[in-house]
Amino acid sequence: MIKPIIFISLVSLTYLIFIPSGTVLAFDINPFKEYQGGTELVQTFEQPAAEIVVSSIINPVHEELTIKSLFLVRDRHMPGFDLIDDDLIKKVIRGVRWNDDPLNFLPDNPRQWLLNFEHASKIADRINENFDLFYRSHHADLQFLHAMASNEEESAQFTRDAIMSWIEFTYKVSSGYIPIHTPFRQLQKFLTPKSNALFKKYFTQQGRRLNWTPAYLFSLKCNREVTLPSTFYELDCSQTNWLVDKKDIQNIALGSLLHVIQDSFSDSHVTRNPDYDGNYSLIHGRSAIQTFNTYKKQSIRLHRGADSYPHDMDKPPMQNGFNLEEVSAEIISYVLSDRAWPKHKNRHAMVSTKLKEGIFHLLDPNAVAGSGKYK
Ligand SMILES: [Zn+2]
Repeated sequence: MIKPIIFISLVSLTYLIFIPSGTVLAFDINPFKEYQGGTELVQTFEQPAAEIVVSSIINPVHEELTIKSLFLVRDRHMPGFDLIDDDLIKKVIRGVRWNDDPLNFLPDNPRQWLLNFEHASKIADRINENFDLFYRSHHADLQFLHAMASNEEESAQFTRDAIMSWIEFTYKVSSGYIPIHTPFRQLQKFLTPKSNALFKKYFTQQGRRLNWTPAYLFSLKCNREVTLPSTFYELDCSQTNWLVDKKDIQNIALGSLLHVIQDSFSDSHVTRNPDYDGNYSLIHGRSAIQTFNTYKKQSIRLHRGADSYPHDMDKPPMQNGFNLEEVSAEIISYVLSDRAWPKHKNRHAMVSTKLKEGIFHLLDPNAVAGSGKYK
């Protein structure tokens, strides 16, 4: 764990060197640490220079929430628990970082991660579907990957539909219902019509990415030289074939699903009932959604406060309301037990209904994207 005092001083430095606009990051990650068993991550890569570390890649919050959830499945012997080993944990952690780093710049190219991020911040208003996933995930139309609205007019129903379509896609890839080498052009055979329409809108409209597959999507490994202010080279994804194992792809897809669930408990991303004072997140005893929030209506500095460790990270779950690790554990258990062959099942529809009645229940489907306490 990073000592809070160090974190605070680094955070204030962030705003001296790096002020993005319309960007979304969410709970922090630390890709320079690796899972090697037990409950802690171990520093295995050289920690990069301070200005890179401060840009939200410092506290392994997503990673630790993931370990907590996987351990709950294992400790409670929930169905599918026997599939959880160190290798699965490592790959699910890789997946929980994917939403923040869909081109796998990290941990090898931290400086390029940051420079691309800064460049995307500068041109946020011009980013469209032709841009790569890294640009779109943080600054444009794919902010549902972080349980946030992408623009100021978006309704809660719209944001939730996008989130649920991503959860459907990742659930079905992770459970094995969608084979990992399925070209995107054939996904309509596997997705519900609504999710298929949304997937098309975000990924394949106008003939884009039709030959991409889940295996390709989740193993992208790219780099791109950016020398600010203006030099900006082509994306180089020649290292993408690093990952071929079916299970690895499925586990990364599971991590990406968990990332969205986790971010939906970030108080700056989603305003949930019941209300409380203070700019921090809680993962226990939370209830239905008032608004999905949008970065465009928020103060970046305030938003960041809710993305460090949740205040109740080390407290036990509560009796009333939803607890992040329990909701996550239930999904993990469904996914892993759906993988079992020959009893192979697809219980996505049931999981989706549970989520819509549970953590993604909307108090007002027409509520417009908000700012929460982070204006
Ligand atoms: Zn996120």
